[in-house]
This record gives sequence, C-alpha cells and structure tokens, in this order.
Amino acid sequence: RKGTVIITGASSGLGLATAKALAETGEWHVIMACRNFLKAEKAAKSVGITKESYSVMHLDLASLESVRQFADTFRRSGRPLDALVCNAAVYLPTAKEPTYTAEGFELTVGTNHLGHFLLARLLLDDLKQSDYPYKRLIIVGSITGNTNTLAGNVPPKANLGDLRGLAGGLNGIQSSAMIDGGDFDGAKAYKDSKVCNMLTMQEFHRRYNEETGITFASLYPGCIATTGLFREHIPLFRLLFPPFQKYITKGYVSEEEAGGRLAQVVSDPSLTKSGVYWSWNKNSESFENQLSKEASDAEKARKLWEVSEKLVGLA
Ligand code: NDP
Repeated sequence: RKGTVIITGASSGLGLATAKALAETGEWHVIMACRNFLKAEKAAKSVGITKESYSVMHLDLASLESVRQFADTFRRSGRPLDALVCNAAVYLPTAKEPTYTAEGFELTVGTNHLGHFLLARLLLDDLKQSDYPYKRLIIVGSITGNTNTLAGNVPPKANLGDLRGLAGGLNGIQSSAMIDGGDFDGAKAYKDSKVCNMLTMQEFHRRYNEETGITFASLYPGCIATTGLFREHIPLFRLLFPPFQKYITKGYVSEEEAGGRLAQVVSDPSLTKSGVYWSWNKNSESFENQLSKEASDAEKARKLWEVSEKLVGLA
C-alpha cells in the first residue's frame, strides 16, 4: 500500500516542495494540513501534484481547538498514519508588539512549537499503530536556533532561559510573551521556537523510540531564502537575502532541493536513525549534525515537555 504522510504548512515553500517530491514517488499519499484550504488546493495544482496523491485537511496551528479537530477528522478518514512532518512556521521579525494565538499564547511559539507539540502528541498513537515498515515523526528545525553556528550567532540569539515566560502562559499579561521572560522580540521568538522544535524531537526520542519503533528526527534543510517565511521582513532584506545566501554564505538551496532533502528524511530507508538532527554538506550528502548546548540540553527538554503539556491541556 501507499504510505500516508501528513505535512503541516504544505501550502508553500518547503512543505509544498516536500509534498510534491513525496507524491511524485508514487509511494505516498500526502495529507496537506493547512490553514487556508483554497491556497493549498491551488498550490498543489500549481506544482502539478496529481489529484489522487493528495488531500487537503484544515489545520490552524494557532488554535489548539483546530489541532484537536484536525486529529479527529484525520482519524475519521480511516487512513493509517505512517509519517508526520511538523513543518509549518511563522516568522515575524519586524513585529513591534506580540500577537497571540486563539488561546492567548505568543503567536510564533504558539504556532511553531505549542501547536505542533499538541498535534504530535495526539497523533502519536496513530503512528504507533501503523504497520508500515518505517514510521517517522519529523520536526523541521533550523540553524538559526543553534548558537554553535555562525548563523545562530547573529543577534538576537535563541535563549530559553529558565522557561519562566512559557511557564507563566506566554500571554503578555501575567507573564512575558517571551519564553525566557524578556521583552518581546519577534526574530528571537522564532529562534526560540526552533530550539523548542529540536528539544521536542529529542524528548520524543527519549520517551518513545524504544517502545514504539518510531523514528524521531529533525533537520536543517539549508537556507531556502526564497520562501514565504520572509514575507514579513522589510523589502530591502527580501531583495538582498537570496543573493547574499547564494554568493556570500553559499548556504542557499532551492525550494526543490530542500523539499528533496526533507522527503529523504521522511522516506529514505537509510535515514531511519532516531534522535538525529540531519544536515547536508556541500555535495548535498546528508550527515548527522551537532546541536548547540541549549538545543541538546536534556534537562531543558524535559522541562519544556512538562510545561508545554500543561499549556496545551495534556497534563
Ligand atoms: P513558508 O512561509 O513558505 O511556509 C510556512 C507554511 O506554514 C505555510 O504553508 C503557512 O501557511 C504555514 N503556516 C503558518 N502559520 C500556520 C498556522 N497557524 N497553521 C497552519 N499552517 C501555518 O516558509 P518555509 O517553507 O521557509 O518554512 C517551512 C519550515 O522550514 C519552517 O519550519 C521553517 O522554520 C523551516 N526553515 C526554513 C528555512 C528557510 O530558509 N526558509 C531555513 C530553515 C528552516 P500559509 O501558506 O497559509 O501562509
């Protein structure tokens, strides 16, 4: 049978390119989990994904209610779940003030981390039940949260501190809108959310890999400087960022290539190691990359897991 993969945020950029790459193998049915149904349908058509190889299901990660509904709807579809890709993200580098999810969490961390955390927890049982030879839960990470890299050292740097803002509800009222309790900074919130994504993947691995046989992995697909992720950035940045990445840092990858990399992590029989953060070298060969001290801090991962459980109503 075909495998079934859910990809969040498959309506543009990396998610769309990955959906296309997996659909084209003929081995996968792609569930595009998107907040904008029409946009997702159009996107699938525009890149030529054939009708029988995808379905769009509504998911707004900025609403925990929507996440729960999505999990129910998926279950009622009767499809098995063989792979889940947590890919969607928002990045609000120029925002002066925080904005919030339906439940009142700062939008960046609320969407990128908390929404995905609940989704992955709810769908874990479905993955567990799959009889597919490999079952995988992939959470897209980034270099920007990794302070052991050059890109990760561009200020403001990721730093979750002692999680006091998150523990306080991340709502800008009783607590700060930032995980570490500091002043709001949209670029930092994005980097923090990516550290959460990488910590969450490792905590899943520690808690569930042995018991379930599920592969948990994260990756940095390269700098895909042309995606919608940078849509909120100032025009000059959007103009100069792609050539800067292409010619100066040489970290640039096309959406197509990055989609191929994520598709590899989802379906390549040789990439089944769990707990790994994948990256690609100059020759486009995958390797197990090192995470920064904070992004591999097991104690912080455990604490983040427990605080997140409370916020999304699982504990
Ligand atoms: P895009 O902005 O092109 O794609 C982001 C996707 O997330 C869109 O489909 C968007 O939906 C979706 N999304 C945003 N908010 C929500 C929500 N509340 N509910 C459901 N879906 C939502 O960016 P990229 O493709 O670049 O980003 C994809 C992933 O890659 C992210 O995890 C990002 O952190 C990561 N990444 C990107 C890099 C890059 O250089 N671009 C580098 C490293 C990592 P909609 O179409 O409706 O807006």
